[in-house]
Amino acid sequence: MENTIVAIATATGESGIGIVRLSGEKSIDIVKNFFKPYDKKEIDEKSNRMMKYGHIYDKDELIDEVMVCFMFAPHTYTRENIVEIFTHGGIVCLKRVLNLCLENGADLAEKGEFTKRAFLNGRLDLSQAEGVIDLIKAKTEFSHKSAINQLEGHLSKKIKEFREELLDILSFVEYSINFTEDMQEELPFDNVILKTEKLMAEMEELLGESNKGKILKDGINVSIIGKPNVGKSSLLNRILRQERAIVTDIAGTTRDLIKEDIELSGIKLNINDTAGIRDTADVVEKIGVQKSIEASENSDLNLVLFDISRELDEEDEKIINLANTTKSIGILNKVDLDKKLNEEKLKEKVNFELIEISALKNEGISKLEQAIIDMFFDGKIEIKDKALITNVRHENSLKSSLEYLKSFYADLKNMVPIDCCEVDLRRAYEVLGEIIGENISENILDNIFSNFCIGK
Ligand code: GDP
Repeated sequence: MENTIVAIATATGESGIGIVRLSGEKSIDIVKNFFKPYDKKEIDEKSNRMMKYGHIYDKDELIDEVMVCFMFAPHTYTRENIVEIFTHGGIVCLKRVLNLCLENGADLAEKGEFTKRAFLNGRLDLSQAEGVIDLIKAKTEFSHKSAINQLEGHLSKKIKEFREELLDILSFVEYSINFTEDMQEELPFDNVILKTEKLMAEMEELLGESNKGKILKDGINVSIIGKPNVGKSSLLNRILRQERAIVTDIAGTTRDLIKEDIELSGIKLNINDTAGIRDTADVVEKIGVQKSIEASENSDLNLVLFDISRELDEEDEKIINLANTTKSIGILNKVDLDKKLNEEKLKEKVNFELIEISALKNEGISKLEQAIIDMFFDGKIEIKDKALITNVRHENSLKSSLEYLKSFYADLKNMVPIDCCEVDLRRAYEVLGEIIGENISENILDNIFSNFCIGK
């Protein structure tokens, strides 16, 4: 990796400052060509990690007044020489400085190339590198917390512990294979069986939490369903705390899905406000209704609305049938009006919790928030210093490793000759390594880093 890369590291647009970042052996020499420090002192290792004030010139033309930070290898993000030039945040300043770097021998960085170098040079493992992108993309309190957790290496540590345990078992198995060849008898495997059982349980536990992890990072897909006019759009507006969906008293106004990401108690809810589900002759509305049914079937959670001021009818029954087969919370809306709905009768028909609210008067919304947290996080969310699986790639590798381990265990129990069991054990070890980036193919790496922005 002898070339030096450069990119604009901040979002472009008008801003106070912007940063052009270089990494590679020649970064410092490249910048010296056009940066004139105010103190006129030579830039050497004495200026490591210090900000230098000065000016950028393109030949005789003054381009910008800047601060520059020089960072010498190996104690840098990429383990290479890094320079960060803090320019004024206008696009022309940034582009002119970027061009100067290119003219002086740097190459334009690809997406995520700085972090890819950090990974390839051993500064981060792959799951930590993925934590970096999650951190940049985090939009809610808990997605931020889980990303910083991953970047700090809590998942990596756990995976490395699992691998050590696997290696331990593997070395006994290998020893035993050689021993059998020499001595014509087998060593006892009781200890290996115990260790494998313990490890399988630990892996199951981590996997069991992966749903929580993914929800913390990506949010819960929520559909708001109910017949027309029960108050779906009004509830959405309440949660959004702004007028987003059209609220009218003419049935069937929400014709298409309204998608909205909101933060509720630190968790992201990806909300679909659906067209009212009912039999309809209107073609456009019919498409909307079909989409609603599909969306609710694919959601992690359905918020099922009923109008407490109207008696239950056939349309409600259809919705109950749909909601009973999915994860749902029932909401009795319009408690500010006279009650006509028979709650006891409804309770007999549904297999989900019911909460009373008034979307209009903003009552009961916090009960709903708590019900969601109870349902997905058993009442409270704990993340601190915890290994969490938040991404499907990690989940798949862990699942696959566990499958190999289970197969090894079954063979062992069935007295299959030990040299035949070994293959699965070895695969379990290798597959687990994919999480932290060992033996990973170039394609997968490119795919991961292509999700980054340029300059990270
Ligand atoms: P949607 O068709 O299910 O999306 O229902 P809307 O949100 O458009 O609401 C239909 C009508 O019910 C509107 O006139 C709302 O103002 C009214 N509404 C919604 N929630 C409440 C509530 O809690 N109490 C009362 N009294 N009216 C409500």
